Amino acid sequence: MTDRARVVIIGAGIVGASTAYHLAQSGCTDVLVVDQGPLFDTGGSTSHAPGGVFQVNYSKTMTEFARYTTQLYSGLESDGLPAWYPVGSLEVAWSNERLIDLRRKLGVARSWGVAADLLSPQHANDLIPLLSSQIQGALHVPSDGIARAVRAVEAMASDSESMGVEFVGNVVVTGFDIVDGRIRGLQTSKGPIEAEQILIATGIWAPTTGAMAGITIPLIPMQHQYAVTTPLEQLAGETEEVRHPVLRHQDRSMYFR
Ligand SMILES: Cc1cc2nc3c(=O)[nH]c(=O)nc-3n(C[C@H](O)[C@H](O)[C@H](O)COP(=O)(O)OP(=O)(O)OC[C@H]3O[C@@H](n4cnc5c(N)ncnc54)[C@H](O)[C@@H]3O)c2cc1C
Repeated sequence: MTDRARVVIIGAGIVGASTAYHLAQSGCTDVLVVDQGPLFDTGGSTSHAPGGVFQVNYSKTMTEFARYTTQLYSGLESDGLPAWYPVGSLEVAWSNERLIDLRRKLGVARSWGVAADLLSPQHANDLIPLLSSQIQGALHVPSDGIARAVRAVEAMASDSESMGVEFVGNVVVTGFDIVDGRIRGLQTSKGPIEAEQILIATGIWAPTTGAMAGITIPLIPMQHQYAVTTPLEQLAGETEEVRHPVLRHQDRSMYFR
């Protein structure tokens, strides 16, 4: 591992890897990315996320970010396997209030230039046969989909490495060297590293990492429940890893893939 870099990124999750990739694309390749976990299944949130990507957001900026994500991921693969499954999304309405909300959301989607439709229960059921007939309707966004986040990280890291970026796993950052309020480098379990700029991309660990540098990062980790079913008989014989749209049921704060 190098002992100096212009930019050191702490964290090789989706944020750290994407930042390294975009820095390299912009010509900044003197970049070192370190992570406390093994690369690239580091044990962070990115290694756990089922990868639902929903573009429609009341914020136009967030919609633009998500749209860019779908475009970028559709060109990424790792070991010949895709990082992106363009299966679309369905957000179901279980109540009349939610149906009204989905109509509003349809307007937002169209205003931001994202193709979308409000489907009847029958039409939604055609897309996901497992769906209950009790729904009142569903917002369908055909260009949404499911990302395999670790594959996206691997692909972006591989492209970055070919441009000169270095990624190193099993390196724990333990402190920062700050002189006269200016960052000079950091301390790690594998020795000190000099750096001009450091990015903290440590996700739920960011408040702890920030505290080492004497800064407050206003982020609170939230527990996120995740369930994996036993094989479903309705899907017996299925050969595709992902076939149906990613499904969101906001009235129960749940989503399914
Ligand atoms: C169960 C679950 C489901 C989710 N589902 C979705 C979804 O469907 N769609 C969606 O968009 N998002 C989803 N998310 C959220 C998404 O996964 C996260 O927002 C995203 O992965 C955060 O990426 P990150 O790079 O900020 O953090 P992380 O992936 O956590 O990366 C931070 C990295 O920092 C490293 N690190 C921490 N401290 C140190 C240190 N001191 N030294 C060195 N390295 C350190 C960690 O090892 C880790 O690899 C889900 C998250 C979870 C947990």
